[in-house]
Amino acid sequence: MRLILLGPPGSGKGTQAKRLVERYSIVQLSTGDMLRAAVAAQTPIGLKAKDIMAAGGLVPDEIVVGIISDRIDQPDAKNGFVLDGFPRTVRQAEELDELLRQKRMTLDAVIELRVNESALLQRVETRVAQMRARGEEVRADDTPEVLTNRLASYRAQTEPLIHYYSDRRKLSTVDGMMSIDEVTREIERMLAASAAPGKAAKKAGPARRSAKKAAGKGAKAKAGANKAAKNVAKKAARKPAKAAKRPAKSAKKAAKRGTGAAGKAAAVAKRAAKRRRKAAKKASRAARRPVSRSAAKGPRKLAKKLAKKRAKA
Ligand code: AMP
Repeated sequence: MRLILLGPPGSGKGTQAKRLVERYSIVQLSTGDMLRAAVAAQTPIGLKAKDIMAAGGLVPDEIVVGIISDRIDQPDAKNGFVLDGFPRTVRQAEELDELLRQKRMTLDAVIELRVNESALLQRVETRVAQMRARGEEVRADDTPEVLTNRLASYRAQTEPLIHYYSDRRKLSTVDGMMSIDEVTREIERMLAASAAPGKAAKKAGPARRSAKKAAGKGAKAKAGANKAAKNVAKKAARKPAKAAKRPAKSAKKAAKRGTGAAGKAAAVAKRAAKRRRKAAKKASRAARRPVSRSAAKGPRKLAKKLAKKRAKA
């Protein structure tokens, strides 16, 4: 199983990655953890990354791609891995595709944890306050100020990956605002559905619901095209055909009722036809009348009247 967890800082990628490691016997590859280890060990990479990380920026692509490439080759990653915090830019995603192609590996799924940004800031503020109260050391980049920068980096550089993977039909979106257990269940359900294509159609329901929920909770409703979104798109694609039929149907109905432009035109035509039928009937009746009789009858009546008048006079 090879997975990517996508989501802004604080969306719960690390927590869910650890659960996926247990569930599928794979390894968690967190570029953030690896970079922090490099900073602590003061390696050349660590020295380069230190200040960038402290400010909430992104470490250069070639550095993180190099780290990931080496890590994937380690024996413990043979059974699979969950990438947490990587890729973070479209270029990293393209390089990962190339890496996997060269290593003859495929990606099983990309799971986006969709969350509400203002709730994230609140979560960090609470966590920092609690850690300080316990006398624990707070990560240099885990403050509300740095988080604001990290969220900006996410929006500008990482969010385009949602389209990148949805275009490649790899993306599934989960409402990251649900409880940790609910998110885990939802991810497992999605992975089971994508592993068993026959069941995928049945499983699309809950997936759609959770994605909807995420959007409703204030998460940006960008094109997180998960399976549910694909279904919606399919429906939308079918709609124009129905819609095209609709005007014809309603025109027919309007014609029957005599309402609307089509109805009025039909009524006028109907009246004209009636008039034409009446005139034709009259003409045919007149044509059937014997001309000699009518012609003879008239003068005879007139002669009789004149004779009567004269007699009176
Ligand atoms: P994380 O623990 O995943 O939030 O990462 C902590 C910090 O490490 C980030 O704010 C970045 O400065 C750096 N970092 C981690 N992963 C990457 C990556 N894929 N690309 C660039 N920088 C990264």
